[in-house]
Amino acid sequence: MRFASTRGLAPPARLGEALAAGLAPDGGLYVPDALPEFSPRDFEGLDDLPSVAARLLQPFFEGDPLAPALPAICREAFDVAPPLRPFGAPGDYVLELFHGPTAAFKDYGARFLAACLAAQAQAGPPLTILVATSGDTGAAVAAAFHRRPGFRVVILYPDGRVSPRQAHQLGCFGDNVQALRVQGSFDDCQRMAKAALGDAGLRADVPLSSANSISLGRLLPQMAYYAFASLQHWRRHARPLSFVVPTGNLGNGLACLLARRMGLPIADIALASNANDVLPAFFAGGDYRPRASVATLANAMDVGAPSNYERLAWLYPEPAARRGAVLAGSVADADIEACVRDAHRRLGETPCPHTATAVRLLQRLRAQGLAGDACLVATAHPAKFPEVVEPLVGTAVPLPAALAAMLARPSQAAPLAADEAALAGVLRRGTEPGAGFLR
Ligand SMILES: *Cc1c(COP(=O)(O)O)cnc(C)c1O
Repeated sequence: MRFASTRGLAPPARLGEALAAGLAPDGGLYVPDALPEFSPRDFEGLDDLPSVAARLLQPFFEGDPLAPALPAICREAFDVAPPLRPFGAPGDYVLELFHGPTAAFKDYGARFLAACLAAQAQAGPPLTILVATSGDTGAAVAAAFHRRPGFRVVILYPDGRVSPRQAHQLGCFGDNVQALRVQGSFDDCQRMAKAALGDAGLRADVPLSSANSISLGRLLPQMAYYAFASLQHWRRHARPLSFVVPTGNLGNGLACLLARRMGLPIADIALASNANDVLPAFFAGGDYRPRASVATLANAMDVGAPSNYERLAWLYPEPAARRGAVLAGSVADADIEACVRDAHRRLGETPCPHTATAVRLLQRLRAQGLAGDACLVATAHPAKFPEVVEPLVGTAVPLPAALAAMLARPSQAAPLAADEAALAGVLRRGTEPGAGFLR
């Protein structure tokens, strides 16, 4: 299969090329030139996540040198099966995507991308993965590439603007992972990363790639757990399953839309936003108006210009069809707090602030008459956000083992001015022997 740019001005790319490039050369996002069609019967006899993923993704790998490695890539990236279990009222379920090494769903995408890039790595200079992060992405990418020969990870995060626990997690890897705390905002971090990736001179000296959420290597694997969960539900109940997805950049939600389009037994898809309500405003009939983001308790969803909107517009070119494809709603901070408190008291559940937006939206949709089985997507473990969650539930949230091990390690991040030249200096210096690369 070939992959085209959403902007239509870049030549079609092979999968491996699209994975290595991240963004298409015309600034667009890579999308498949056709979508395969499946029915649940196509997955008969495939019971575990790696097998379902390999079957689902096989058409996308066809014709690429990576194709023979796909089953092994899936076994590596999908070794943690997400539990699908009842949640509260009959017909309500939750899909827990936070049992990976950094306790957020981004582990799936980051580990799949890392496994793909490692499988196509060639002899030659090591590759630096540059990632600007406001929290979860950086840790997932760092964990996925940690101690992988031939790779170095450089993380940029805004100093003082991620939670203490997130900062500790970003700085605790060491070895081939370098954490830089930038004296500026997340937007500064993104601007610096973009400038470095667009600097041909720098890239000639220091091979660079990114691992941000627009990468095809993160989008494709996210379809796999929707296929897995909807098939599991279909086999048990012979009914399709709706999903409610906490949404920021729209990567996770878009993966669910793609899985449904490809024929998996998925009914409604609802996108839950925090107070950054660009998407709900569009789906309610307004124009699509990206704007600056505002800070909320669900900080990994603080996005004012969801980058995957371009892929949504590709999937549904007609605005009316686009609006008809999903349900959506915005959940303000006060409602997130009430929801976490309520879920703990009434159901004995402790959603993270992001997951809480989905819990609240499902409650609203049920009140408006949404019928059928519906599944909340739990995107992170609540223990990642103790400052928010613990005062609401009045008790400590036990840490999952992987997170506890990470937090027990020392953590170190170097300060960096919010300046492109300063970053270029660090990137160049880092290629000297012994400076973070494993060969
Ligand atoms: C990144 C993230 C989201 C938003 O996912 P998108 O793919 O950007 O829409 C939601 N919840 C958590 C915990 C996240 O880390």
